[in-house]
Amino acid sequence: MARPGWAPPRLDGFVLTERLGSGTYATVYKAYSKKDTREVVAIKCVAKKSLNKASVENLLTEIEILKGIRHPHIVQLKDFQWDSDNIYLIMEFCAGGDLSRFIHARRILPEKVARVFMQQLASALQFLHERNISHLDLKPQNILLSSLEKPHLKLADFGFAQHMSPWDEKHVLRGSPLYMAPEMVCQRQYDARVDLWSVGVILYEALFGKPPFASRSFLELEEKIRSNRAIELPSRPPLSRDCRDLLNRLLERDPTRRISFQDFFAHPWVDLEHMPSGESLARATALVVQAVQKDQEGDTTAALSLYCKALDFFVPALHYEVDAQRKEAIKAGSSDLPVMWKWAGLSPQLLPLIPEMAREKPRLLAALEVAAAAMAKEEEASGGGEQDALDLYQHCLEELLLLLAAEPAGRRRDLLHTEIQNLMARAEYLKEQIKMRESRWEAEGLDREGLSESVQSSCTLQ
Ligand code: ADP
Ligand code: MG
Repeated sequence: MARPGWAPPRLDGFVLTERLGSGTYATVYKAYSKKDTREVVAIKCVAKKSLNKASVENLLTEIEILKGIRHPHIVQLKDFQWDSDNIYLIMEFCAGGDLSRFIHARRILPEKVARVFMQQLASALQFLHERNISHLDLKPQNILLSSLEKPHLKLADFGFAQHMSPWDEKHVLRGSPLYMAPEMVCQRQYDARVDLWSVGVILYEALFGKPPFASRSFLELEEKIRSNRAIELPSRPPLSRDCRDLLNRLLERDPTRRISFQDFFAHPWVDLEHMPSGESLARATALVVQAVQKDQEGDTTAALSLYCKALDFFVPALHYEVDAQRKEAIKAGSSDLPVMWKWAGLSPQLLPLIPEMAREKPRLLAALEVAAAAMAKEEEASGGGEQDALDLYQHCLEELLLLLAAEPAGRRRDLLHTEIQNLMARAEYLKEQIKMRESRWEAEGLDREGLSESVQSSCTLQ
């Protein structure tokens, strides 16, 4: 019998093919079933030889936990077998590799992508939390992707869960301290809340390209872990206020002051209620039906506010759908909402204020409409379109700053202020991107004179 890592072992009923990866104890192979279905699976092979008593317990825990679990964002354990050499976990195959590879192939992820991933991870953690299960070894290498076309996260590798200490018999730390909560490393006393810290690290790495404690030497790493300085977030790329708030609250060194599980699931940036899912479309449609009814009854204010709520579900429904034709069908099906679609980029807290602004502040609403158009343009833009987006940003910012000055103190002013800051940061960032491309073109000796001039002349943001 071949050892894992050397050549695929043999297993009744399956043909093992390429090696997918290996971790602390196991090697994972791609395999297919010899049955008619030819179902593709991943088989995690653990050489019994490599296991001490603690590891056996560890693995049995993993099997026990995974066996009873069905969740769209948790890798499904289909079955398990063993022979004299190995234990085999037969799992759902995830074709998209792991999150670590996904992030590093792209350097950083846009906030929107990170948010969808974070919602998926949060929904898996909520499911586990309700069943009193902690993961305790959350890191991008243990988060898999179902496919690259429609990347759904799948939480994997419950190796550490529950009964294991991150320190082995020789008091050597197992796993990567980059993702471990400081209390796990420093005090060796910890509970489920370490998972929230690790979620913070994963989010930080997705958005900034490296984990907060990334270091050149072990000494430097140790110093960073033991320090009691608050984690500082880089100022670039620009991120929404909600996103930064969540990062700060997850990456709180003191577990008693860290965000709680309930507050994490309900945090406006995670907002599990509006997470893209198979139900988003049905919920959106139900709200539109109510809105249409209110409209027919002549209650336009109620109708508009219901349309806004519907939009909160239509946008995730659209994210959930990958098929281009069906995406179009959703947009067409929501044609009762054409006026609503244009607001999709603004922060959700502003949406409920739209009816009131339509009545009292049409100029403000018009400026926000341009802001939303700028965001939409930026999203679809590449090359020349980015300049159009920047022009729109400048146009709406001039107007919004004027209107802000006239706005009385209150919630609307606060929201407007935040939105303007967000828009300014996006515009500045876009301007930098355009400039960077310009200088690359210059370095490459490309003749872009005309374009360059128009970029320069419209790049003066206050
Ligand atoms: P370990 O307990 O040894 O860390 P993991 O379960 O984390 O083992 O698997 C190690 C690696 O194998 C993962 O990081 C991933 O790249 C790959 N892998 C694991 N499970 C799957 C799967 N179901 N589908 C595809 N690849 C997988
Ligand atoms: Mg692993």
